[in-house]
Amino acid sequence: GFKCGIVGLPNVGKSTLFNALTKTAAAQAANYPFCTIEPNTGEVAVPDPRLAKIAAAAGSKEIIPTRINFVDIAGLVRGASKGEGLGNQFLANIREVDAIVHVLRCFEDDDITHVEGRIDPVSDAETVETELMLADLESLERRIVQIRKRATGKDKEAVTILPVMEQALALLQDSKPVRLMLDGIATEDLAILKSLNLLTSKPVLYVCNVAEGDAATGNAHSQAVEKMAAEQGARTVVISAAIEAELAQLEDAEAEEYLEAMGLEEPGLDRLIREGYRLLDLITFFTAGPKETRAWTVKKGAKAPQAAGEIHTDFEKGFIRAQTIAYDDFVTLGGEVAAKEAGKARDEGKEYIVQDGDVMLFKFNV
Ligand code: GDP
Repeated sequence: GFKCGIVGLPNVGKSTLFNALTKTAAAQAANYPFCTIEPNTGEVAVPDPRLAKIAAAAGSKEIIPTRINFVDIAGLVRGASKGEGLGNQFLANIREVDAIVHVLRCFEDDDITHVEGRIDPVSDAETVETELMLADLESLERRIVQIRKRATGKDKEAVTILPVMEQALALLQDSKPVRLMLDGIATEDLAILKSLNLLTSKPVLYVCNVAEGDAATGNAHSQAVEKMAAEQGARTVVISAAIEAELAQLEDAEAEEYLEAMGLEEPGLDRLIREGYRLLDLITFFTAGPKETRAWTVKKGAKAPQAAGEIHTDFEKGFIRAQTIAYDDFVTLGGEVAAKEAGKARDEGKEYIVQDGDVMLFKFNV
């Protein structure tokens, strides 16, 4: 599955958030049969209000959300790129995730030590990013030597890889993260960049962990982070890990009351999960029938057979076509039969690019 790695300096609230995420997931586990939780990886349901609407239109008995993974990546300290602390393990763990959720301490609390002795989330973000950039710089400088040689010798592969490497290297030498080159990158170059698996090429979401009282409004620290994030084209979630930890322990009715008392419309974790999903560049398609309405995930740009393959590899191999109804049509017309009668059920073939919200039914050979 797709993975978001939770990173940040020590004592910023990563574990508190991660535990709240997995507790919520554990509480939901009865409804989500494939929910498995490893020690530092939690699989969480992606909240999606469309599921209930489709289920109502389809008369489904059960609702099954799609899921993404969060990984708690501890061990980042200043000097990690030089192997300080758990540096090497930490970097290896980041290499395995698809996107980075960067938690920043935006709460004051004299009882909780800050590793740098002061609350300054923007500067913390720079500390972490610097370690990641140094690690990338070192690994890229090492690898590019060989590629330059091969490119001079007209090696085809090296000739295509080299410009992407040079561009990434130039950014790092300028103390900038490689993800700055993602915007508008050509598909082939993106594939090359992905294969380099650089830490700072992964998309980032900043999470501002604020005190309970600041959860609804944010505070000066979270505003400073939002400004920094906006300059990078990154998104921010303001959340109180303490509130989320509390919510994870409460029954639904109590949780509602507590949320209201805190001035919140929904749990911060719901927003965090949705933003994580967005960060991974994923879209959702649905299957709907009397038994269940279910959400499935594919990478943006995936074609119909790939979507079929999410359900079963045989569906992909034997793919013939996909009856496809747009979410709005399915819900406003009131289900599959009505949508068909209204001429809103399309027969899509192998080249169809799945759209977010498609309600799909696959025809396949076995
Ligand atoms: P990690 O090292 O980043 O995983 O941080 P932890 O989640 O272990 O949190 C470190 C300490 O900060 C713990 O004692 C938490 O209870 C506390 N903490 C986490 N979030 C908050 C918060 O929002 N407010 C306050 N006051 N304390 C928090």
